[in-house]
Amino acid sequence: MTADRRLERQRQLQQLLRGEGLDGLLVSHLPNIRYLSGFTGSAALLLIGPRGATLISDFRYASQAPQEVGNAAMVEIDQRSIWERLARVLTTNPVESLGIEALSLTVRDAERVSSLTSTRVVPTRELVERLRASKSPEEVGAIRAAAELAQDALREIVSQLHVGQTELEAGSLLEAALRRRGSEWHPFPTIVASGPRSALPHARTSGRTMLKGELLVLDFGAQVDGYCADLTRTAVVGARADERQQAMHHLVESAQRRALEHLRAGMTSCEADSLARDVIVARGFGDAFGHSLGHGLGLEVHEAPRLAPNSDTPLPLHAVVTVEPGVYFPGWGGIRLEDDVYLGPNGAERLSDGRTELLELV
Ligand code: ZN
Ligand code: ZN
Repeated sequence: MTADRRLERQRQLQQLLRGEGLDGLLVSHLPNIRYLSGFTGSAALLLIGPRGATLISDFRYASQAPQEVGNAAMVEIDQRSIWERLARVLTTNPVESLGIEALSLTVRDAERVSSLTSTRVVPTRELVERLRASKSPEEVGAIRAAAELAQDALREIVSQLHVGQTELEAGSLLEAALRRRGSEWHPFPTIVASGPRSALPHARTSGRTMLKGELLVLDFGAQVDGYCADLTRTAVVGARADERQQAMHHLVESAQRRALEHLRAGMTSCEADSLARDVIVARGFGDAFGHSLGHGLGLEVHEAPRLAPNSDTPLPLHAVVTVEPGVYFPGWGGIRLEDDVYLGPNGAERLSDGRTELLELV
């Protein structure tokens, strides 16, 4: 990353906190800690107080934490307990009213925080997530790089997919190509779903053998600088697509195209969702599209904002979201197409290649 935005993000967070009547936040959700401090380890608390930020971690991160955090926070390493250390930090740097992250802190740890300080402790929801929903140019660039890496990995292995392979074998080819091309990790378990299993929107890749003429849904991601891409492509194994496969694919593709053309920051979540859903409903297949249109992408593969029929929250400017309509017919199969887009001031800009043609693996 070129620009260091961590202190600016902390200042923005302090502003949000003041709006909530708080003067501190105990950040426990690791992606939020990474966003505000740069720390990438698996155990830490980040206290954002009126006099700055303090990261508390344990001896495993004694050298990594100061290295990653730099001047974005004070670093305290405790050999025994990060909670006891938090109590001491709160004594020396008192906070009058402390927010905790209701979506990540366990009930047990919330009780622990209340017991170790006389500070007023207040559950909060999605304060850092709200900031994370609007991406900086560097963040958008990392997601674009992850999307390019993912589509290149698929292009590399697509000719090696064939009848008689298992879903797991196909998945291992794709995952190996993703890693070889530099994906830091698979942001979610790769979905390779063949035949009737392609009708399961969140299928688990299985030992099932792929048969001639079946649909194959590939849903996979890559991670660059911590930022995730998430793509789905659909194929027909070992044959040309039949008429129904072509017709259903065409329907999903036109739904996706309509959403990509008209999606804008400022639209509500349900307006965005209906751009694609209306196309599928108008053809009488509304019941076959049972999930929402998309989700935000960033340090997590599912984050704010959502593109969903039951939410009227406006989509923030500079958000990055997926657009992934699909239709699913139990017993027959499913088709889903997913691309990643940036909602800039001039509309939606695709970060992935939009190569959504039905792949015929012959
Ligand atoms: Zn996906
Ligand atoms: Zn997705």
